[in-house]
Amino acid sequence: MTTHFLHGRGAVYPGFLDAHVHLALSDPGQLLTGGIARVLDLGGWLPDGLRTSMPDLAYAHQFVTAPGGYPSRADWAQPGWSCPVASPADAVSAVDLQVAAGASVLKITLNSAAGPVLGAEALAALVGRAHELRLPVVAHAEGAGQAERAFTAGVDAFAHTPFSERLGDGLVTAMAARMTWISTLDIHGWGSPTVAFEIASDNLRRFHCNGGRVLYGTDLGNGPLPIGVNHREIVALLGAGLTPDDVLAALCSSAPLGLTTPDSRVTFIPGERPQGPGAFADWLVTARALTRPELEVLA
Ligand SMILES: [Zn+2]
Repeated sequence: MTTHFLHGRGAVYPGFLDAHVHLALSDPGQLLTGGIARVLDLGGWLPDGLRTSMPDLAYAHQFVTAPGGYPSRADWAQPGWSCPVASPADAVSAVDLQVAAGASVLKITLNSAAGPVLGAEALAALVGRAHELRLPVVAHAEGAGQAERAFTAGVDAFAHTPFSERLGDGLVTAMAARMTWISTLDIHGWGSPTVAFEIASDNLRRFHCNGGRVLYGTDLGNGPLPIGVNHREIVALLGAGLTPDDVLAALCSSAPLGLTTPDSRVTFIPGERPQGPGAFADWLVTARALTRPELEVLA
């Protein structure tokens, strides 16, 4: 990671990425002043014209799911946000539809806690078509066995650290060899950790120990999350065994999941990086995303 220090003023990093947001459910206006320079929208959103003061953006567009599957019946999701897939033929047109809308990743859901899930053939066809078109597949896996199903089908990333069950060591090790997990630990209780928080933290600890790639992501739009770098998410990542350098890598990853978002901003953190993890999260949340001309003004 390229870092440089502006003498006595602070540290400059590649633009921080929040790899799981829902712009349709949140106000992105404050993300830049909260340190986030890049976002990956994982469902429900299409560019709707000129917006100023927005982070660089890549997106999935629709949630691809079984007919009646999550989140098509959720009260927060508009009807047009879900794309139902019943058959392999549906799968091909569903993927093509997302690509035509400018998607950089395919978002699928396998949530057996909230409704029917994609069958094996439809799932295989979705992953196959997406990979033919070089589109990484990001899954929301929830309910017993769904994370393993997704992995076996060739899904590239989880939108959430698996939180429904403790995954076996062998499975976690296999996942670490080729998957990316987007963290989203703080949605489990928003500071009052739940059982799901403990399960996810344990899964993430072992995934990370085995070399799995972790991306910082918050699921912005889901509950009371701060706009910008989330102190509680950072503390949770440290609690799952990531070092401060690992956390920075999870925020600064270049072209994760093949994303080629424009790189128009850096993230600047004023002051000196504290030694040790204690004050690290406090320091990190003072970050701001700046264009290079804005940075020059500081230099
Ligand atoms: Zn989400």
